[in-house]
Amino acid sequence: MTSKNIAILGAGLLGRLLALELVKLGHCIKVFDRQEPSVKESAAYVAASMLAPLAESVATEANIVEMGYYSLNRWKKLTESLSREVFFQQEGSLLVWHQQDHSSAKHFSTQLQQIGAQLPHLPKPEYVNQTQLSALEPQLAQQFLEGIYLPEEGQLDNRELLGALLVETEHLGVAYHWNTSIDLGSFCNDAFDNVIDCRGIGSKIDYPELRGVRGEVLRVYAPEVNLRRPTRLIHPKYPIYIAPKRDHVYVIGATEIESEDDSAISVRSTLELLSAAYTVHSGFAEARIIEANAQCRPSFKNNLPKIWRSSAKVLHINGLYRHGFLIAPAIVDSVISLLTQDDPSLANQFQIPLMDMAHENIC
Ligand SMILES: Cc1cc2nc3c(=O)[nH]c(=O)nc-3n(C[C@H](O)[C@H](O)[C@H](O)COP(=O)(O)OP(=O)(O)OC[C@H]3O[C@@H](n4cnc5c(N)ncnc54)[C@H](O)[C@@H]3O)c2cc1C
Repeated sequence: MTSKNIAILGAGLLGRLLALELVKLGHCIKVFDRQEPSVKESAAYVAASMLAPLAESVATEANIVEMGYYSLNRWKKLTESLSREVFFQQEGSLLVWHQQDHSSAKHFSTQLQQIGAQLPHLPKPEYVNQTQLSALEPQLAQQFLEGIYLPEEGQLDNRELLGALLVETEHLGVAYHWNTSIDLGSFCNDAFDNVIDCRGIGSKIDYPELRGVRGEVLRVYAPEVNLRRPTRLIHPKYPIYIAPKRDHVYVIGATEIESEDDSAISVRSTLELLSAAYTVHSGFAEARIIEANAQCRPSFKNNLPKIWRSSAKVLHINGLYRHGFLIAPAIVDSVISLLTQDDPSLANQFQIPLMDMAHENIC
């Protein structure tokens, strides 16, 4: 295959993953990002990076769930292949609820059954009593009488991943241009065979139909809390998740607010997230808040991703919403097939809309 010169705009989640896969195929890659290498103001940096296709299935479409399962296998292989260690875990996740919220749990469970009927090949949710819950997460069984275990679900450490992808891609020859904000109108693409726009919410400047959905998260250090798996609290008002990272660090999140405000987390959200976490485990009372953050998830009106061309050489990938980590490998593999073999079969299999027209027509 002929080596191409490819520019990638944005060094967040998609940009780095694409850079890795394309440089491995022998292409010459330049990546441009408006931030420093840590990209602290990207969705990728702030995310909880849970890989939970079943838990998400109640709030999304079947193709996202399918992409999620495909991607779980790809993440495992990908993280194992990197020279720097990345925390990746696939030991399932748990849903719990307080007794007074039994009807919300019942509703959730009915939705899971409907998805199971629609996608019968998916792993089945397991309803666990207090004894079984205790075997999975002993500390949760002190507080909850029952739960739902979702096998095969996973999570990874987003920041370790971003760091490891940077090291790997630089080692393979990818050139990064930091603190370089790109707007498509003035970007000179003469030197490139292809340009791939992965600027997330930063693409809004060129595509106003993109919207940000504000998400707020807290990172706490909680030595008294011993949870191994991502845990979600089913609650009619405060449905939070708690994602355990390494060394007793927990990500508690996330709000979902129809707003493009990416200013600091609000007091109300902080109180709600922490109060709900405290009802899951009283050990969070003595936790130390090590970070409070907010960022916008890049989303289209239907909350589904899209791949489109605005010209023969410029390809755009966006709208990963709250599922970026869940589906990124599936999206990246679909893009690679398109770009290198002109083969849309994987994208079609995942029902990712492919548009080859002016952006006005994409929504
Ligand atoms: C609070 C929160 C929690 C989340 N939790 C999860 C989760 O548990 N699981 C999950 O699957 N997903 C989660 N997500 C979603 C996930 O983070 C996003 O879907 C994903 O990061 C989107 O990837 P991206 O590469 O499109 O954008 P980003 O990761 O945001 O990267 C975009 C990059 O483009 C750069 N850029 C922007 N504008 C320009 C410009 N003009 N020029 C140059 N560079 C530019 C930015 O600096 C950034 O580095 C969460 C998101 C948030 C906010």
